[in-house]
Amino acid sequence: MIDDIFSLIEKERKRQQDTIELIASENFVSKNVLKAQGSILTNKYAEGYPGKRYYGGCKFVDEIEEIAIENAKKLFGVKYANVQPHSGSSANMAVYRALLKKKDKILAMDLNSGGHLTHGSALSFSGEDYNIVFYNVDKETGQINYDEVRKIALKEKPRLIVAGASSYSRKIDFAEFKDIAKSCNSYLMVDMAHIAGLVAAGLHQNPCRYADVVTSTTHKTLRGPRGGIILTNSEELAKKIDKTIFPGIQGGPLVHVIAAKAVCFAEAMTHNFISYQKQVIKNAKILCDVLKMEGFKIVSNGTDNHLMLVDVKKSVNMTGKEAENILESIGIACNKNMIPYDPTTPFITSGIRLGTASLTTRGFKENDFVEVGKIISTCLHNSDDKRILDDLKTRVNNLCRKYPIYEEGYNG
Ligand SMILES: *Cc1c(COP(=O)(O)O)cnc(C)c1O
Repeated sequence: MIDDIFSLIEKERKRQQDTIELIASENFVSKNVLKAQGSILTNKYAEGYPGKRYYGGCKFVDEIEEIAIENAKKLFGVKYANVQPHSGSSANMAVYRALLKKKDKILAMDLNSGGHLTHGSALSFSGEDYNIVFYNVDKETGQINYDEVRKIALKEKPRLIVAGASSYSRKIDFAEFKDIAKSCNSYLMVDMAHIAGLVAAGLHQNPCRYADVVTSTTHKTLRGPRGGIILTNSEELAKKIDKTIFPGIQGGPLVHVIAAKAVCFAEAMTHNFISYQKQVIKNAKILCDVLKMEGFKIVSNGTDNHLMLVDVKKSVNMTGKEAENILESIGIACNKNMIPYDPTTPFITSGIRLGTASLTTRGFKENDFVEVGKIISTCLHNSDDKRILDDLKTRVNNLCRKYPIYEEGYNG
């Protein structure tokens, strides 16, 4: 039984090696991140915070968490960091609970426009516990219309405004959001889960300068272990947030993951990381240009970051679900995604979301993304032609062989 698990892990490693990974929320972490996360630190209980634990024997894990906190503060230029959230969703839950009372009003981006489930979806605790009002992107431009957001904010007077998204391909103006929040006396929370790596590299406006609180995952463009962080410059809010994470909503912190976060933050402070993020953006622009040249309609007509949304319904008269499946059959992984004002359901969708962070970690450059774009286009235009699809599989294999990730048998 135990062998089965390890043989499945090896199969999964091989799947990762043999796949063109375009899921925008994924990445490949360094061996040092894997090593920290797979370490003996998982044996340790450390409820509480460095210097104030409920368990003995925390001398070294205290130092580890302190380094993680210091690295996070330095990387993003903030005064306070909580590195214990088990995930992006728990980070968001903690902030809502620290700042709001049940049924307080939150203004956030609609899921269809690019928001996240924890930004008020009826299916999530956030939609159940709070009174949610949404803003959408502009129907024509596919981009946030800040005048429209301001209008809704002034009318609704939310206690908290959430900025940040899971499938929005344009820069977000956090200064503008702060101005809107000020005008209606609301808190501003920025959820930078997707773009944290770009922010760390100085390639996107840093929300920490504007927001009352910033949350993030550490495993998307930031390329760290699966987990969350919360950042703020306010001592008062930092205290409330710490109490809400523990003992409010979590028990013992995942010290092994916190160690891996410390490694990830340190990696993100290197020149290599900045070059990597620049390449991520260059690659996204090229992929987007190729797809446009091949006749595909891109939501908002372009990208400023690591991802894009392709309207496959308008482009090739396919649902997102069909496009995702046919691409998977030739070794390309992406996810179906609702597009703004999508008439279908989240299980069908009219779009697919493509991101470049993972492949860029493998070493893919612009010319490789030209090839990826052409493969996607040929596949979606010839989804019934087995001979063409077989040929595309070979082209996928060639790309995958060119850029190995972890060597055979290596699983941390
Ligand atoms: C991915 C994501 C999250 C949630 O992260 P999990 O670690 O999966 O809980 C939250 N907010 C945004 C904007 C995200 O993209």
